[in-house]
Amino acid sequence: MKILELNNVEFHYPGSEFRLANINLTFNENDFAFILGPNGSGKSTLFKLILGSKKPEKGTIKLKSKNVFEYSDKERAKNIAYVPQSSLTVYPYSIYEIVMMGRTPYFNFTGFERKRDMEIVDEALETVGLYGLRNKGINEVSGGEAQRAFIARALAQKSDLILLDEPTAHLDLKHQYSIIKLLRKLNEEQGLTIISIIHDLNLAGNFNGRAILMKNGKVFADDKIEKILISERIKEVFDVDSEVSTKTLDSGKKIFIHILDKQKF
Ligand code: ADP
Ligand code: MG
Repeated sequence: MKILELNNVEFHYPGSEFRLANINLTFNENDFAFILGPNGSGKSTLFKLILGSKKPEKGTIKLKSKNVFEYSDKERAKNIAYVPQSSLTVYPYSIYEIVMMGRTPYFNFTGFERKRDMEIVDEALETVGLYGLRNKGINEVSGGEAQRAFIARALAQKSDLILLDEPTAHLDLKHQYSIIKLLRKLNEEQGLTIISIIHDLNLAGNFNGRAILMKNGKVFADDKIEKILISERIKEVFDVDSEVSTKTLDSGKKIFIHILDKQKF
């Protein structure tokens, strides 16, 4: 079933040359998609439109067949969870408190968490492997653990669609991989629809799924990752000469991009 549908969406920021145009994208339940593309290609703007925080000038964005603007903020939050870019904050909250924030759309007029909220938070903490660290401050844990806390907050929101804007930025190789692996697992085991903006093509190439390649505010390609990560497309979109190789492991097909640069320095 369609969970999200963008039809002929157009948008620009007042006074800015940048224009997002002709965006036609459909996401089905249980999709696992990466959004790839150079800096400034419009990836985060696309998310702002989906989240209803910017309004398209043209076109429509439907979340479960209903226009995103017809949802109240609370109802929308029950249907889409968002892990913003660099959520690594300076607030003095514990991991538990951060994850409990995901329950806010469900709080009643008293604004207090109930037993059910606590159970959901515990379950989300278990899922991301942070239960033992729940009382630590978000600023006292590693970047990878903090990112897991924000993913747990999204899980506690109990929406079936999660958008993540560069969830692996600032993480080391192992933690980058483990975050995407966690997302893939949630997609497969809990049936969640997960759309992640990531920069690292090699990281995307470790996972199968769909990739949407953006260039200058347009969808340049939308296909299986292995059809996206090919040298012609990488040249056209990133202006980099590369060679692509693959290796099939038990865990699946892995794609590697080797940059070809004939010039030394
Ligand atoms: P990406 O996430 O792909 O790096 P963005 O969607 O953040 O790209 O930005 C696309 C373009 O829109 C960029 O040229 C950026 O400078 C511009 N832009 C982003 N946010 C704003 C804003 N709030 N006001 C004006 N221009 C913006
Ligand atoms: Mg961005």
